[in-house]
Amino acid sequence: MSSPSSAGSLDALLDQCRLLSLAVAATPIAVFVTDERGGLLLLQGRLAESVDGQTFFQRPDVAGLVRQALSGESVKALITVGRTPVEVIMAPAQPGATAAGVTGILTDATERERDIADLRSKLSRSPITGLRNRAAMITEIDAATQDLGPAGTLCVVVVLIDRFDQVLESFGFASGSAILREVAQRLYAVDVPGVEIGSLELGKFTLFARVGPDGLPRFVHQIEAMFLDPVAVERDSILIRPVIGAAIYPGHGDHGELLIQNAERAARAAGERGEVHRVHVAPAIHPRRNFAVLSELRSALNGHALHLEYQPLINLHTLEVDSVEALARWDHAAMGRIHPDEFIPIAERSGLITDLTHFVIDRAASQGREWQGAGQTVRIAVNVAPEDLRRPDFGPRLEAALTSRSVPLTTFTIEVTERTDLGLISDATLLQLQRLVSQGLEISIDDFGTGFSNIGSLHQLPCTQIKLDRSFVSDVNKSEHSQRIVRAMIQLGHSLARTVVAEGVETPEQWDTLRALGCDLAQGYYIARPMPSDEVNPFLQRATWR
Ligand code: C2E
Ligand code: CA
Ligand code: CA
Repeated sequence: MSSPSSAGSLDALLDQCRLLSLAVAATPIAVFVTDERGGLLLLQGRLAESVDGQTFFQRPDVAGLVRQALSGESVKALITVGRTPVEVIMAPAQPGATAAGVTGILTDATERERDIADLRSKLSRSPITGLRNRAAMITEIDAATQDLGPAGTLCVVVVLIDRFDQVLESFGFASGSAILREVAQRLYAVDVPGVEIGSLELGKFTLFARVGPDGLPRFVHQIEAMFLDPVAVERDSILIRPVIGAAIYPGHGDHGELLIQNAERAARAAGERGEVHRVHVAPAIHPRRNFAVLSELRSALNGHALHLEYQPLINLHTLEVDSVEALARWDHAAMGRIHPDEFIPIAERSGLITDLTHFVIDRAASQGREWQGAGQTVRIAVNVAPEDLRRPDFGPRLEAALTSRSVPLTTFTIEVTERTDLGLISDATLLQLQRLVSQGLEISIDDFGTGFSNIGSLHQLPCTQIKLDRSFVSDVNKSEHSQRIVRAMIQLGHSLARTVVAEGVETPEQWDTLRALGCDLAQGYYIARPMPSDEVNPFLQRATWR
């Protein structure tokens, strides 16, 4: 390369700069040529007025780029000068060139960077609501989980608008979009620290926040509250209803995509069960883990890996222990304790539940016999899955398990979840249950208030007890409204001559309120956590509770 010191060759170099700017179709804010010392020979243009050339070329990033050009590479880089993003383009120096004679142009990249940022934000947002889209939310959740590490927790909630396709059909796309914008606006009012909101597709929103399972009810409550008021559409207004599913990091997934998928699955399940307004927490975790759990569960049932813990129910009138509920526990040698909320749904889907239920009934009956032998008779409640009641031999097997161990029916309760579709239970089974109830068996409707909520079920099933779901109990001291609901449910139970149980009692305030409302029995951490069988006797020895 010729030396730039002669005027002629300098002109040639400047020509090269101009050619360069033509080649990249840019209007330079400066063109430059370097001299032998690698410093600046010439800086021309708008930038030259505000920047001292020598200092500029001594900046380590700029000097590095010059070295790169000297090694024969072409250079294209973004740097900042002051606050301005500046694109640097340098032509590769000719082979054998010394420090002298690198030519380049600098262009103002402000507008282009803004366009890129705009485009990026447009591509990551829903065109209707302006909320982040699925890909952007996945990125956000991934960043948040990485930040939290395995010890932190985060809840991902998916909110489906119930029957949004019908809304679109009846009101058209424009009004449908207006509804979505209104919902998005309302979701901004969800008052949970650090909450992020996104839109997955038409009629499907997602929110996440760094709260754990304990914070989930409040989170969901806040979301539900946003749907209490009708939304104005055209000259009308409609009440739209949310179907909500949730997944919790790390239990239900360790990355954004899986967490959103599991929350969607949970919402779908809630929708299928007709649990509009109700949250459903993802039961399905990693497909691979589900499979592992299923195959291990089979052997656990055959071996001795499953056992029972017992949680007392206290009579709120007499303060005596009324009964204990048997809860399945599974300690897996390698996987650790696997929670019923994980393995029961898997057992239900795979058909293993019936084996599990009869295992629990047999075990509980044997335990009851043992306690009786030790002079302690206590009523035992077991959980029965909807699927169990569809089997014609359920009643006879239950009866045989008790009579073969001389355990009277008067000391046994079955808890049937309210989500059970009674239509699927045969008349023969209903008659059998009726007969067992007339001999002293208690039937309790578990999770009352969360399911089909039809009072009809109280008539159809020969139940003797209703067990208010813990979500009502946790709210009972929080609002006048919740308290009215609980009061009404207790009155309803009593008017049908059923005993009423409150589960999930965690505080003395809840205990006092439920007593004052006339609730009959209470169960929950405030009284005792589920305990191994050998701790039950000492608990029973205390004749009254508190
Ligand atoms: P569930 O029948 O509603 O049982 C009550 C659950 O609430 C138990 O969880 C219990 O440990 C928990 N709990 C008790 N007191 C409190 C409290 O004060 N606060 C809170 N937050 N929770 C409380 P667990 O043992 O994990 O069981 C979860 C569910 O798994 C049960 O809900 C039941 O649906 C199912 N399950 C457990 N064992 C069996 C079983 O043997 N057969 C069947 N079919 N289902 C079972
Ligand atoms: Ca139960
Ligand atoms: Ca329950």
